[in-house]
Amino acid sequence: MTYSTPLPWPPDADAAAARFLTRHYGSARADLDVDFCATPRASVVTGLLALCLQQTDGRNIDAATLWEWGVAARLQGLLAIAHATTGPITTAVATCNHADCGERIELELALENFALTAGESINWRTPLQQQASIRLPTGSDQLAWYAHSRDRRGVDAAWLARRLIMRLDATVPAAGWQLPAAWLAPLGAALDSADPLTALNITAHCPACDAQFEVEVDLEYLLLEDLRRQQRTLLDDIHQIAGSYHWSEADILALPSWRRAGYLSRIHAQSRAHS
Ligand SMILES: [Zn+2]
Repeated sequence: MTYSTPLPWPPDADAAAARFLTRHYGSARADLDVDFCATPRASVVTGLLALCLQQTDGRNIDAATLWEWGVAARLQGLLAIAHATTGPITTAVATCNHADCGERIELELALENFALTAGESINWRTPLQQQASIRLPTGSDQLAWYAHSRDRRGVDAAWLARRLIMRLDATVPAAGWQLPAAWLAPLGAALDSADPLTALNITAHCPACDAQFEVEVDLEYLLLEDLRRQQRTLLDDIHQIAGSYHWSEADILALPSWRRAGYLSRIHAQSRAHS
């Protein structure tokens, strides 16, 4: 049971422009079941998306569908959930890399600025001047790559890249065709520019030494950490309310958050009065 109204993504979209809706994470019993330590990380993302996202007509989106979403679209889903749950800003921490500085810098990132539409494939010119049609990776690709890398005990970027090549000069490559090693770096760069958020680079300015430098930001990780903190806070709140009122976990979760906050402030006032 949830009390919050689902919100559109992008956040300022009207009903016609919204790509999907999301509810606030931390308002349903199942939200406590999310194991943020589960591997691979893509499975945590699929779990969260399946819990919170809805089609614009209010239908839920099942996990099988979400696995087939592109990695970039899945990140859009996570941005939507974090925006609806922990607010419009996430904070990345960077260390100034300028000589002898080492200043700790907090970068405030507005989630709304990351709302974008991702494609499903790109055209790419190979070093042999062939026209290649490349699929952008999906959640399923991440899952398969994780299993493959685990079996080989090492990351095998060529294996993933080969999997994404659909056609070379309009011909499907033969089953045994191997990706030339020299293609990996330029293909990786082409994939990164098609999905600028998954490997995000931000220019930071250091207030201590005035240096400017590039910071690699793992947006997915930051958003998952924000939601993990939300789950921790929720557990703390349930623990405190259950300790005072002896209500069940389900009953406490069914309270709208403003009422939970009301009981918590009374518990805190009481414990202050007794100390
Ligand atoms: Zn500095």
